[in-house]
Amino acid sequence: MTRVFSGVKPTGHLTLGNYLGAMRRWAAEDQHRSDALFCVVDLHALTVDHDPARVRRLSRQAASLLLAAGLDPESCTVFVQSHVDEHARLSYVLECVATDGEMRRMIQYKEKAVRERGRGGSVRLSLLTYPVLMAADILAYGTDEVPVGEDQTQHVELARDLAVRFNQRYGHTFVVPRATGPAVAARVMNLQEPASKMGKSDDTGPGIVYLLDEPDVVRKKVGRAVTDSGRDVVYDREERAGLANLLEILAACTGGDPAELAGGYDSYGALKKDTAEAVVEVLRPVRQRHQELCADPGYVEDVLRDGAEKARAMARPTVDAAYRAIGL
Ligand code: ADP
Repeated sequence: MTRVFSGVKPTGHLTLGNYLGAMRRWAAEDQHRSDALFCVVDLHALTVDHDPARVRRLSRQAASLLLAAGLDPESCTVFVQSHVDEHARLSYVLECVATDGEMRRMIQYKEKAVRERGRGGSVRLSLLTYPVLMAADILAYGTDEVPVGEDQTQHVELARDLAVRFNQRYGHTFVVPRATGPAVAARVMNLQEPASKMGKSDDTGPGIVYLLDEPDVVRKKVGRAVTDSGRDVVYDREERAGLANLLEILAACTGGDPAELAGGYDSYGALKKDTAEAVVEVLRPVRQRHQELCADPGYVEDVLRDGAEKARAMARPTVDAAYRAIGL
């Protein structure tokens, strides 16, 4: 059976981008057609300035939202990365296969390093090596497919390169994984800055729809989305980025096609109104299930404990094999 692995970082509250770009498909498709693991990748949340209590709180919230989004522990494995030592163990070995040049070429590293320096801070070494840890997350489980949004495809490519290189040098050890992406909403953009993605870590609140936003907050944010000074509704990702983003969100929520949907509108106002309502409807069951889970925190803890146990048992043979192969 196809092995699928993916994860979310507890660096902020989960967003509509996380949901449409990744989580929704994990719940609707991946967990049913494959042997899937979904992970709250908390070690990755330490790569930039962080508050320990907040990371712990957001990890639990992310796990609860994964379940609220429809992941069923009977169908897949849901766990927290730091509960399974194999990720860090394998990461070190892969650092001995990766090169520093390869790391410095990663687009996310370049963007985030500039941001950290711009804030007057220093750049943690773990920000540079983060893609290696992500490769370890993936390779430890013999993963075939990694369902992610467009922003993560470069990192999955690196995991492929490291797997191939390791296998060539030290003997066949790792399955070579590939990224799979959604057809629409592979990249949901910030409603206020359509040139940048809707990222939970960015902290530019008004342009980000969070999964737990109240319906009226969603309506306000979508209603104030930046568009342009044109009047006609057309789908053009290059020239009309804000509008294209709204059309893509609407299409992802309703199952339509962004270009076809554009033809049905003669004003930005009507498009925004329908988009807001479509988002509210998509998020409604998620918020509701999340509230139910908040009333039963013991359940989430149990799921995570069982998930870590299962994950450990799956990862250990591969990581042990990698240690033996590389000479340890
Ligand atoms: P971030 O911290 O940027 O929100 P994560 O690394 O936790 O994202 O991503 C979790 C999943 O959500 C990944 O598969 C990622 O590709 C996807 N994702 C994140 N933001 C977006 C977005 N704006 N549009 C589409 N997919 C996204």
